[in-house]
Amino acid sequence: MDFAFDARTEELRARLLAFMDEHVLPAERVAEEQRAALASPWDTPAVVGELKAEARRQGLWNLFLPDSEDGAHGAGLTNLQYAPLAEITGRSPQLAPTALNCAAPDTGNMEVLAQFGTDEQKKQWLEPLLAGEIRSAFAMTEPEVASSDATNITTRIRREKGGTSRSSGAESGGEYVISGRKWYISGAMNPDCKIFIVMGKTDPDGPDIRRQQSMVLVPRDTPGVEVRRAMRVYGYEDHYHGGHAEVVFDEARVPVTNLVGEEGGGFAIAQARLGPGRIHHCMRLIGMAERAIELMCRRAVARTAFGKPLAQQGVVQEWIADARVAVEQVRLLVLKTAWLMDTVGNKGAHTEIQAIKIATPRAVVDILDRAVQLHGAGGVSQDFPLAELWAAARTLRLADGPDEVHQRSLARRELKRYL
Ligand SMILES: Cc1cc2nc3c(=O)[nH]c(=O)nc-3n(C[C@H](O)[C@H](O)[C@H](O)COP(=O)(O)OP(=O)(O)OC[C@H]3O[C@@H](n4cnc5c(N)ncnc54)[C@H](O)[C@@H]3O)c2cc1C
Repeated sequence: MDFAFDARTEELRARLLAFMDEHVLPAERVAEEQRAALASPWDTPAVVGELKAEARRQGLWNLFLPDSEDGAHGAGLTNLQYAPLAEITGRSPQLAPTALNCAAPDTGNMEVLAQFGTDEQKKQWLEPLLAGEIRSAFAMTEPEVASSDATNITTRIRREKGGTSRSSGAESGGEYVISGRKWYISGAMNPDCKIFIVMGKTDPDGPDIRRQQSMVLVPRDTPGVEVRRAMRVYGYEDHYHGGHAEVVFDEARVPVTNLVGEEGGGFAIAQARLGPGRIHHCMRLIGMAERAIELMCRRAVARTAFGKPLAQQGVVQEWIADARVAVEQVRLLVLKTAWLMDTVGNKGAHTEIQAIKIATPRAVVDILDRAVQLHGAGGVSQDFPLAELWAAARTLRLADGPDEVHQRSLARRELKRYL
């Protein structure tokens, strides 16, 4: 077993670490200052555009996307090669993933379009996304139903048939009419978010509850689409991620050519979309934990209480040691999962993907909590990133499937062997 990264990964890691030190970390404060002066808090600070241009110039762009068969401009990295790079971006989760065009939910949406989109859809939406010119959102969760069970989704996608072609006599065109209410739709508050991938039911009474759903592309400016309000996350509005919006679709009409994949294929696409997304989140979480450990150590050596530096308090040493052990554990599991995804595919890595989705946010929330504690009042303040990182990490015990749903499915597979 070889635990070393390969030469390409090492080379990219070195370049990315330099990019973080020279450009991203210094931009954090600048972005805050610029945002305070913006007309709307949902606009993007200018420095983000500068970071994107620089990352692209340096070839640190679209690293998440493996080259697809039609050569859809990904960096062509394996999951195992991308994992340590995503981890590095997790040190500055507000800026770095966006700077590299590797931010959720665009990454998952680009994967869906690359995998299931038609040529026309790719041209219209995937290309500007890959170029970092627009942003996108994925709209599945609904306030009215337990959305961790995607079969509950009630948004209706009704097909209205078009006329018949005069020349061929074949049925032509037609529209999908979308009605429903979604919430926690990440990225949707950002005015650059131009396209929603919406999951709803095309066949609500169909016999197979996993074939009732479809996905359609709904441009933001479609009449009947209302981005109603920004939902908060522990009080944060998450401006850098374009917020998490409540979005209402009131008889919004799109041409039938906006269907993604096939009718009835929505559930399967949602499953396919979440595999890589989950591992990306876990990688970035580990980077967040590394930043927390660094801040903990710096604070512990710099502050003195009751006559000695905090670093010399046994309990503080215990926190730091436990944090290091936990990070090493989850990193190994995440890397093993990445390797499995590369070698046996996302399906073959199912158990491990669930395991990391359960283990990583828990471990990282715990580390961030200790880091907050060590910083005293500063830990919950806006002067350190810890409180916001904690809130972001905590939400990942819910987003992309709550812990309990993964536990249930993992336990079932484990138990099956004994039944
Ligand atoms: C910050 C953030 C960003 C998000 N971004 C998006 C987005 O971009 N697009 C999108 O569509 N959604 C998004 N979501 C929504 C997220 O995916 C859902 O919150 C999640 O799937 C859970 O659905 P729910 O909130 O309806 O909870 P429910 O389904 O109502 O579940 C509530 C709780 O019930 C328990 N539970 C559920 N099922 C089981 C079970 N089988 N066994 C035991 N306990 C169970 C769990 O504890 C669960 O947390 C986001 C959420 C957050 C917090």
